[in-house]
Amino acid sequence: ASGRTPLMAGNWKMNLDHLQATHLVQKLDWTLRDGKHDFGAVEVAVLPPFTDIRSVQTLIDGDRLELKHGAQDISVHDTGAYTGEISGAFLAKLGCAYVVVGHSERREYHAEGDDVVAAKVQAAYRHGITPIFCVGEGLEVRQAGTHVEHVVAQVRAGLEGLPVEQARSIVVAYEPVWAIGTGEVATPEDAQEVCAAIRTTLAELYSGDVADGIRVLYGGSVKSGNVAAIMAQDDVDGALVGGASIDPAEFSAICRFR
Ligand code: PEP
Repeated sequence: ASGRTPLMAGNWKMNLDHLQATHLVQKLDWTLRDGKHDFGAVEVAVLPPFTDIRSVQTLIDGDRLELKHGAQDISVHDTGAYTGEISGAFLAKLGCAYVVVGHSERREYHAEGDDVVAAKVQAAYRHGITPIFCVGEGLEVRQAGTHVEHVVAQVRAGLEGLPVEQARSIVVAYEPVWAIGTGEVATPEDAQEVCAAIRTTLAELYSGDVADGIRVLYGGSVKSGNVAAIMAQDDVDGALVGGASIDPAEFSAICRFR
């Protein structure tokens, strides 16, 4: 429906040590190439825990794999006395193309508000890393019917102060919290409604042209059996996949959604 290259990104969450990570990347690459996957037509990225990234980078660079990789979080700071934090400078050195920002699990368990999310979006760009900027409503908001307003407000807040040259390359992921890890998938129409509202908001903040180029992903219990209907929606340009991304057969089937 557009000239946007779909992105399938696998958020492994806190799963797989570095040896398991290496094994999964090898199997995923093998399965995709066996299926003659065109990485130029559908981009595929893995988002392992921090401690796996070096091993994944070595494998991808050493074997010249076409998979991209990224991280699940980034510090708002670039360096200094911030015990336990990981800077964008370190992620850039490890070849990270992407970083997840504003995931609902960070918002909920680490009390990350919109201000922190906006600071992390900017931290990513300071180091040349593309944010996968997550937004999405909880069940109560959905039941109250105010999900579009809620998500639009999150988009506006997270992009606060972000110049157009950077916004052009951002990836936005609509992840309804009630659909994450629950097996409860949004209907394709639900996904389209909110992804379209996100694109309209991007057009208001920047321009129609910029909004047309930005990829908006859906995330929330995406599996090989439901991905095609979701991807058929005009404003859905890929998926952020959690649970199903650590099964190489399932994730490669998701990447082969057509
Ligand atoms: C996620 O964590 O981003 C996600 C979408 O998880 P799941 O696919 O397991 O619902």
